[in-house]
Amino acid sequence: MTEEKKNTNAWQVALQQLDEIAKRINLEPWIHKKLRRPKRELTVSIPIKMDDGSVEVFTGYRVQHNITLGPAKGGIRYSPDVTLDEIRALAMLMTWKCAVAGIPYGGAKGGVICDPEKLSLGELERLTRRYTSEIIIMIGPEKDIPAPDINTNSQIMAWIMDTYSINKGYSVPGVVTGKPVVIGGSEGRQEATGRGVTFITLNTLKYLNQGIEDRKVVIQGFGKVGSVTAKLLHLEGAKIIGIGEIYGAIYNPKGLNPLEVDKYRRETGSILGYKDSEDITNKELLELNCDILIPAATEGQITEKNAPNIKARVLIEAANGPTTPSADKILESKGIFVVPDILTNAGGVIVSYFEWVQGIQGYFWSEREVNLKLRDIMDRAFHHVLELSLKEKVSMRTAALMLAVSRVAEATKIRGLYP
Ligand code: GLU
Repeated sequence: MTEEKKNTNAWQVALQQLDEIAKRINLEPWIHKKLRRPKRELTVSIPIKMDDGSVEVFTGYRVQHNITLGPAKGGIRYSPDVTLDEIRALAMLMTWKCAVAGIPYGGAKGGVICDPEKLSLGELERLTRRYTSEIIIMIGPEKDIPAPDINTNSQIMAWIMDTYSINKGYSVPGVVTGKPVVIGGSEGRQEATGRGVTFITLNTLKYLNQGIEDRKVVIQGFGKVGSVTAKLLHLEGAKIIGIGEIYGAIYNPKGLNPLEVDKYRRETGSILGYKDSEDITNKELLELNCDILIPAATEGQITEKNAPNIKARVLIEAANGPTTPSADKILESKGIFVVPDILTNAGGVIVSYFEWVQGIQGYFWSEREVNLKLRDIMDRAFHHVLELSLKEKVSMRTAALMLAVSRVAEATKIRGLYP
């Protein structure tokens, strides 16, 4: 692989990151070697009858990176850009994310190469059910528990749960998280990632001795994560001056009301053209003059090309892997405080864990309880990472990875190598 490809290939980036941390923490070579490989990966073909009577064959993946700390855990994404290397990288990130949060899971990820916008509801359901039955040998409440990710939602989780259950002959709600509440989902799960991002933002500002009032915030992405983050930060008093979505972005230096923007988007299908705002490009959005930049879309958005132009002082990574390693170095040299993805966006998988625990207990908590417990875990994780970063004089990303890899390594060592 050429150097340039290595710098942008998500899996190569994840491996590079692991190698650097291994050196820093003196990771035992056998554990390092083991962590460099996914435990299991499955590629499946998914033949679907389309509405016009033709048959399309899609490709899907499920990768389990590591299961040392508990069952594999991680979302499923539907996107034309899905690749096996991307899913491998995201599975590894899930291992680190769960370890940083201190929840008893390993890491996994799944994906199907498709464009959900071009599929009817019926096609989407058939695709989901067939994909589920193709990966059924891997998943299960004690084995590997999928959840929503890009372009998947609670309805898709319901179809996965139903397909798995029909095959077993009884209802197995614990096979997925992010389900609708009516079939065993958790209160607060839909908003959990965005709520967690908000807690992390507030913790960061407190550490930097800054208030949230009138802080200028730019958010790239207005989906499950970005829209909730925008609304909660707005309610905390922040000024949301820019919001981006796939079609472009909107800007108002005096501040946008994300609740109104969301209403407008529901009516028109896009945020573009929202009253009292100027339409701008995604490139302009990321380079806006602001205090806090929150990429909440997809990987590789902040690169060595745009990093020199970023004006925010704080970068909160709500998406998975939004910053390339070379961009990371530029941001560090500019003194921008970066809070890494595996810490920032852990709220989703933390409430997934709550959903799974509630299901096992058969006892369900109020939304207030869920949110309080989420805050507890996120605050604790933030402080652990911050303390380590100050002690070791390393970035928050390095500290979070050091913490995560050390935890997995300790468990690996204590379990030993079989046979
Ligand atoms: N897809 C989310 C993530 O990347 C949630 C995963 C989960 O809840 O298992 O963290």
